[in-house]
Amino acid sequence: MATTTFTKKALGTETPEPALTPPPVKASPLPKKPKPTGSKSKKRDIPEGLWTKCPKCNSMVYDKELDENLKVCPKCLHHFPIGSRERIHSLVETCTFEEMDADMTSVDILNFNGVATYKEKLEEYQKSTTLKDAVITGICKIGPHRAGLGVMDFDFLGGSMGSVVGEKLTRLIERATEKELPVIIISTSGGARMYEGMFSLMQMAKTAAALAYHAQRRLPYISVLTHPTTAGVMASYASLGDLILAEPGAMIGFAGPRVIKDTTQAELPPGFQTAEFLLDHGLIDAIVPRREMKARVIEYLDYLTVRQKAAAAAP
Ligand SMILES: [Zn+2]
Repeated sequence: MATTTFTKKALGTETPEPALTPPPVKASPLPKKPKPTGSKSKKRDIPEGLWTKCPKCNSMVYDKELDENLKVCPKCLHHFPIGSRERIHSLVETCTFEEMDADMTSVDILNFNGVATYKEKLEEYQKSTTLKDAVITGICKIGPHRAGLGVMDFDFLGGSMGSVVGEKLTRLIERATEKELPVIIISTSGGARMYEGMFSLMQMAKTAAALAYHAQRRLPYISVLTHPTTAGVMASYASLGDLILAEPGAMIGFAGPRVIKDTTQAELPPGFQTAEFLLDHGLIDAIVPRREMKARVIEYLDYLTVRQKAAAAAP
């Protein structure tokens, strides 16, 4: 197969380098695709977009294999980010997902104008992700259980919670309360959406209140924390689960480690703010690998809905 010639380097690597010096290998926390092999390299002809380098074990993983493995490295089990649609597909029974409020979009209520306007940002992300906002909600079937499911997407403005995320989740929880269904929310978020200021912060109270009414009816809520779940989302619905699960290695916290270090003037323990650390310290109930998530959620729902089932069966 012919290799593609790239006239322009990838974004952020445009510093001119002497022709003889190979470009420096930059350590990046994000999964990096192999550099396009131009005419300079005689190593291998790897077509762009077929392989991904695992940031944890450094091995090259075939993208198709990664997709089939739910974006989990087959060698070291590192969990790559996964889109909300793929995640829903991996959890629900085929053709059972009835999406709610699919066309709800954010309004630039504050006329936010920074480096780019909020309107421009929304348009940009709607185009690049083909999502309307950072969460997809709906009623579905997971195994034998009907449930309300909300799945966040980090690719849309860092999974930030604005009015749409808050409203969609609140409506989901209220629908589930009305229909007496359990709720499952899979979070990934950088926190409240700064472009909506106080309106974002109000979503914390709104979602928490909806969950309180859901809990009053003794209906189960499972919160699943994925990498990363932080700030306003962690401080509201993400930490309110009857059962709080997390994916391995997920970064979970409220403020960033540097802020905490500066505020407390204390050295932070190793592994601070990882799912494993928080499991040891009792904040979360279990760490569940992505490939086991569906089976485990079904199992937990079996236990959590025993009372409901018994009540339904009673004469
Ligand atoms: Zn790996």
